[in-house]
Amino acid sequence: MGKITGFLEIERQDRTYAPAGDRIRHFREFVNPLPEPEVSRQAARCMDCGIPYCHDGCPINNQIPDWNDLVYLGDWEAAARNLHSTNNFPEITGRVCPAPCEAACTLNLEDKPVSIKTIECAIADKAWEEAWIAPQPPSEKTGKRVAIVGSGPAGLAAAQQLARAGHEVHVYEKNAYPGGLLRYGIPDFKMEKQVVARRATQMAAEGVTFHCSVHVGRDVSIFDLERDHDAVLLCCGSEVPRDLEVPGRDLVGIHFAMEYLPQQNRRIAGEPLGDVEPILADGKHVVVIGGGDTGSDCIGTAIRQGALSVTQLEIMPKPPERENKLLTWPHWPLKLRTSTSQAEGAKRDFSVMTKRFEGRNGRVERLICARVDESFKELPDSEFELSADLVLLAMGFLHPVHEGLVEELGLTLTERGEVAANDQDYRTSREKVFAAGDMRRGQSLVVWAIREGRQAAHAIDKALMGHTNLPR
Ligand SMILES: Cc1cc2nc3c(=O)[nH]c(=O)nc-3n(C[C@H](O)[C@H](O)[C@H](O)COP(=O)(O)OP(=O)(O)OC[C@H]3O[C@@H](n4cnc5c(N)ncnc54)[C@H](O)[C@@H]3O)c2cc1C
Ligand code: SF4
Repeated sequence: MGKITGFLEIERQDRTYAPAGDRIRHFREFVNPLPEPEVSRQAARCMDCGIPYCHDGCPINNQIPDWNDLVYLGDWEAAARNLHSTNNFPEITGRVCPAPCEAACTLNLEDKPVSIKTIECAIADKAWEEAWIAPQPPSEKTGKRVAIVGSGPAGLAAAQQLARAGHEVHVYEKNAYPGGLLRYGIPDFKMEKQVVARRATQMAAEGVTFHCSVHVGRDVSIFDLERDHDAVLLCCGSEVPRDLEVPGRDLVGIHFAMEYLPQQNRRIAGEPLGDVEPILADGKHVVVIGGGDTGSDCIGTAIRQGALSVTQLEIMPKPPERENKLLTWPHWPLKLRTSTSQAEGAKRDFSVMTKRFEGRNGRVERLICARVDESFKELPDSEFELSADLVLLAMGFLHPVHEGLVEELGLTLTERGEVAANDQDYRTSREKVFAAGDMRRGQSLVVWAIREGRQAAHAIDKALMGHTNLPR
């Protein structure tokens, strides 16, 4: 374990952020890494619990107590090897994961969990700096060909695992660059895109062929992919957003979050926006509908673009400031969280329903809202108005796009509209076609997508070869 008395002697420290007034002037990452000796001290707080709840709380079962100990002992290279044995992209989860491991940590019973995410990120960043991360091409090829549609974290993790197992892997991506929501959804201020690009470079050197700007079902037939490969893995994400079908929805100035966010990521990357109307928040009163993380990303982006004001509306009641640990631990608790973007100056309001949008000359100017009770019933005399020049809808995603390859293949869907496949063999209703990530599981997290990609790779390797050495 770390230091036997570490958790008694050492206070929890975590990464700090550049002040809001500074960081909103740019779109770069703003987290200040802890100095290396402090990371080792933090790792020393780990108690190497008999039942490591952190390990169970992590969807990819990162061996957290083991690498905490290695970091405490100063063997960072072994820590990086250990970390990569369960996680293809720890520098990504080290930046954007909400860290269910920390919620599950035994020391979280006292609100002072081990700074697991910070330690993970430090290990992975150091591994890149020291060039310990290198391509790992397979020593033998199997002669089998696998097509992967979609290059989000699920597709990338599966591609890396399958290429390392010796298969010829082709990744098809409709966007210009690989990464899925890592590249086009998550803003640069949470994760700069070179973090994703260098992984794609590593994977190309391991034998993965990326076919970008290819929309399967439009530019390439899914039946051709099925015919020309031994297996096809669909990792197309959950791209159909939940809409707000109230009067005035068709006014100009009301957009889905995923119409807005990718534009800014493309601007920063110098990628053309294409044939779309630019959406910008500068000089505007912005209302974000939806209180989750996508909403927060809209807030941070709008503030950096120079919005006059940003208000975030949530229909759910305000959660408690603190969870009741004895009821919730080691699970992810519902409690009031303030994201870095919200802390940059957004006004938040809860238990609010939008009844209609109103405007002039076809453009949105205001929202007519009302307060609701816990069953979303409107409270009497609670109607109020909110000015808005730009409204961003961030109310989650329903299911993957059905038009195109899903319908063409006639895949069986779940009741919620995801592609039906279990989490053992990941096989869809079609023999050679597999599905993983948000497309199978529904809207989720990067770490879950990595898990799905790894497990689907295990299942496909086994289906193709009769056995597999890939971990699940
Ligand atoms: C704005 C936003 C911010 C988020 N922030 C976080 C966060 O901070 N932390 C976190 O853990 N999770 C976050 N999430 C959730 C997380 O990004 C997703 O759960 C995860 O990316 C899902 O991975 P995936 O590989 O299944 O799908 P995606 O990342 O959605 O990738 C799917 C890919 O498939 C491609 N594709 C789809 N159809 C086709 C086709 N027919 N042909 C070719 N290509 C196709 C798409 O272009 C896309 O690149 C966020 C989500 C959003 C929307
Ligand atoms: S639960 Fe916390 S203290 Fe226990 S092993 Fe995991 S990180 Fe260490």
